[in-house]
Amino acid sequence: MAKTQKLIDGFKRFQAQYFGDDRRLYDSMISGQPAKTMMIACCDSRVDPAIVTDCDPGDLFIVRNVANLVPPCENDGHHHGTSAALEFAANSLEVENIIIMGHANCGGINALWHDDGDEMQSQFLHHWMSIAKPSKDWVINKLSSSSQEDKIKACEQRAILESLANLMTFNCIREKVEQGTLSLHGWYFDIPTGQLLYFNSQTGAFEPVN
Ligand SMILES: [Zn+2]
Repeated sequence: MAKTQKLIDGFKRFQAQYFGDDRRLYDSMISGQPAKTMMIACCDSRVDPAIVTDCDPGDLFIVRNVANLVPPCENDGHHHGTSAALEFAANSLEVENIIIMGHANCGGINALWHDDGDEMQSQFLHHWMSIAKPSKDWVINKLSSSSQEDKIKACEQRAILESLANLMTFNCIREKVEQGTLSLHGWYFDIPTGQLLYFNSQTGAFEPVN
């Protein structure tokens, strides 16, 4: 069984670093967080955005969900955690960047890929992953001769583009993008190679960052 003592020991090191002799960073953030970049990342334990990008506390406003998906804007009175985080980031923090951070070997995308349409398989996961169903359909249609591995990777990357498109269905985001005060980005952490790719809208492809 995993031990929680490892986490407590880790917190003590964190505490010594930020609340020891030099408290300037947290002292500067007591009344509010300064983050101007929002990251939407997967729950996957291998892709923690702050660790992967070597950020400090206060740098990133992060929402993590299964397969780093952005749902379309829906005014149905239901509980929308990701949408609430987006609204707060856009209107209160006034973030200047929103990054969708996808990744290789995503369990959520894998579940979507192997989903046979039986909703009884899960209470929540099946419906949540249906956000990315158009990506799966696109890959099945466009990449029919590719290997299974390549298809799943393409689905992971296509779902990032779909989430970017869904971001624009939120008025609070679309208006800021059109005003030029907010930029949207699609990133992909390729775990097997250790590379970070970004979506280049000029070429329409995911390419290594410089
Ligand atoms: Zn994932």
